[in-house]
Amino acid sequence: MGSRFGYKTKQRTYAAHAHVDNMVPLASLLKLELENDKIESPIIRHGEAFQTKKGEDFTLTKTDCHRVEGDLSSSFAVFGILDGHNGASAAIFAKENLLKDVISALPSTLSRDDWLAALPRALVAGFVKTDKDFQEKEQTSGTTVTFVVVDRWTVTVASVGDSRCILDPQGGEISTLTVDHRLEDNEEERDRVMKSGGEVGRLSIAGGAEIGPLRCWPGGLCLSRSIGDVDVGEFIVPIPHVKQIKLSKAGGRLIIASDGVWDALSNEKAASCCRGLPAELAARQVVKESLRVRGLRDDTTCLVVDLMPPENYIPFPSPPLPVKKKGKLKSWLFGWRSKESTAVVPNKPGESGIVEELFEEGSARLAERLGSDLSSGVFNCAVCQVHITLTDGISVHAGSIFSMTNRMLEGPFLCSSCKLKKDAMEGNQTARGINVAQCV
Ligand SMILES: [Zn+2]
Repeated sequence: MGSRFGYKTKQRTYAAHAHVDNMVPLASLLKLELENDKIESPIIRHGEAFQTKKGEDFTLTKTDCHRVEGDLSSSFAVFGILDGHNGASAAIFAKENLLKDVISALPSTLSRDDWLAALPRALVAGFVKTDKDFQEKEQTSGTTVTFVVVDRWTVTVASVGDSRCILDPQGGEISTLTVDHRLEDNEEERDRVMKSGGEVGRLSIAGGAEIGPLRCWPGGLCLSRSIGDVDVGEFIVPIPHVKQIKLSKAGGRLIIASDGVWDALSNEKAASCCRGLPAELAARQVVKESLRVRGLRDDTTCLVVDLMPPENYIPFPSPPLPVKKKGKLKSWLFGWRSKESTAVVPNKPGESGIVEELFEEGSARLAERLGSDLSSGVFNCAVCQVHITLTDGISVHAGSIFSMTNRMLEGPFLCSSCKLKKDAMEGNQTARGINVAQCV
């Protein structure tokens, strides 16, 4: 038991009490740890709502995850939206496997800070592994994924496709934590797909007229990234855009929703239409408003997650915000005022509404996303985590067999199967050829 709780905070807590009483029972230490955690952690409330047309939208909600098994102070929560297309099997598979695949790419021995720093890379590895495993099932559906990890005040969002997560921070500006991977709206992604061998164009109908959004051919998908879609082309990659932010202790609201909502409502409208309502009612209100604007033309799903200050939080009397009256209205509506409290959580002047940006990366190239960090070990494939030896591991920085680079001895390393996947995602015709030959 002792080693499980052997974190720096624990050691500091023990040292602080040692001079008073050398025999502090373990139960007291654990209680203190949990009390500290309550002061440091937001109260999390969530709610979801949906109206279904095709039955291909799914949500993921898991609020009882722990970095260290059995250690309640290492808890984190996961929320997600998966919007499937051409069937529901990819969305269901990702819902069941993605969290496990992300966790397996994170060493269990990391401290909280190191774990959070390693999380963006683990999300990339997990998304690629889930996609690769689904492809082996040879089913033809695909799915968007917006996957949100909440650890105390740090929010990490990984996304492929066009489901979206927005943040409405208490007293601050609304921001988008995802990027829409739609060929119609994203020129950078169009270029990448075309350079990798895909064709981008609209659907042609009789008479030569072109209709609808830009799509990738073959397949006709209007997204540039997804999990699944084995029939569309490997350049429709599962490599997520990842953004990590830290909220102030004033808290804020996350609205995660499928495109049924975002095709009807702007970010501002989605946030304002449910402001002041508790999470469950807020999610219902966003869906209701979407349907009022556009009718039920697609699956429409919304997940609202509120990060609220602990009960003993006293907001610092912050100077008037340069922004908007709506901040004041919101603080009144939310009722996020302190109650009578015995403890004061220090709050810096003007802290309310400040969102600290910790990380953002959206490249579709695996080598750039896995970097040169070896914390997952030299002897495991950086994507699927299978054991590899020094002789059969291939550097993630190695080119295709026709374009060797001088970084071939640099980690992290991939197994031969994941190396083929990497080459195919980058439009390497040779690698795709090998894949096809193996399948036959
Ligand atoms: Zn592998």
